[in-house]
Amino acid sequence: MEKTMKAVTVYGPRDMRIEDVPMRPLKRDEVLVRVAWTGICATDLAIYTGESSFVKSGEIRYPCRVGHEWSGIVEEVGESVTKFKKGDRVITDNGVSCGECDNCKCGDRFGCTEIMSVGTINCWDGCYAEYMYMPECHTYPLADSVSLEEAALAEPLSIALGAVKKYEIRPDTTVAVIGTGSIALGAAALASVKGAKQVIVIGRKDFKLEAALKCGATHVVNSTKENAEERLREITAGKGADFVIESSGGPKTVEEAMRIASKRGTVALLAFYERTLDAFPIDTLVSKELTVKGVMGEFGLVPEAAEYLAKGLPVEGMITHRMELAEVPAFFARSAETSGERIKALVRIRP
Ligand SMILES: [Zn+2]
Ligand SMILES: [Zn+2]
Repeated sequence: MEKTMKAVTVYGPRDMRIEDVPMRPLKRDEVLVRVAWTGICATDLAIYTGESSFVKSGEIRYPCRVGHEWSGIVEEVGESVTKFKKGDRVITDNGVSCGECDNCKCGDRFGCTEIMSVGTINCWDGCYAEYMYMPECHTYPLADSVSLEEAALAEPLSIALGAVKKYEIRPDTTVAVIGTGSIALGAAALASVKGAKQVIVIGRKDFKLEAALKCGATHVVNSTKENAEERLREITAGKGADFVIESSGGPKTVEEAMRIASKRGTVALLAFYERTLDAFPIDTLVSKELTVKGVMGEFGLVPEAAEYLAKGLPVEGMITHRMELAEVPAFFARSAETSGERIKALVRIRP
């Protein structure tokens, strides 16, 4: 009898199904991993609704086995696998290289020209599933001190880490983070453990700002109640933030990021805006001599992000929802209703 597993596929906008799908044979360099926890990402939701710019551009195509934030336990290893055995707890990269292009052959697997992103562009089957197939070279052991649940946050944390690495944080650095999603709070936590003097998180919901304080923010500003620019000036004694991470994705917040940055400050933009900006504050950028960096997230930072988790990075406060795999389609269907109360929702698959 053929082996099957439960997996979630998005067939088109708002058409998500849990199905029994056949399990293929394991390749010799692959690890078969029983998925423990999967994180629900805004990208997954945008693929589900069809609003993702990558769906519109045709770079993400239906049917799509979504999901790229996860942790698991090794079930079986291919014949050439040496680093893992059944029962090992693991995390993985969010992309899978081809192993055959020139870059791969030179050992630069993150420069792979044919890279398949897990659950998104050029889709490698994603992790709303009972099992994942991953090449050994993209799989990493998980430290005992990190729970499988928190390990599902390693991928979004790796995106936050990609942003935080855009600036050399020193003991006198003030970092401002606009946004209160899991990547924003991850960036605040990382800036804090990297030793920033002040970490200021700007958001619109008090309970998310409370979570930011638990993640290591020194100050929080609710921009629906206070003038963020004035508050920033107050907190930083008039100087502004040396490093601003804009993660909320609103056109207004790009402008805000420029305004709250200090002279010669750096602004990192790590959201998708899905539109052109009419009011880009170009003169603010010029007169303050700002550096603006786009952050797409890098392949390869997941294990480094997991090291921060192993050292006790405070992320527990960002997990707001937990559910079973069977509940996923209904949760996606009403995701707009829960967005105000959600930071990171996790799916318990087979921990
Ligand atoms: Zn994600
Ligand atoms: Zn390649």
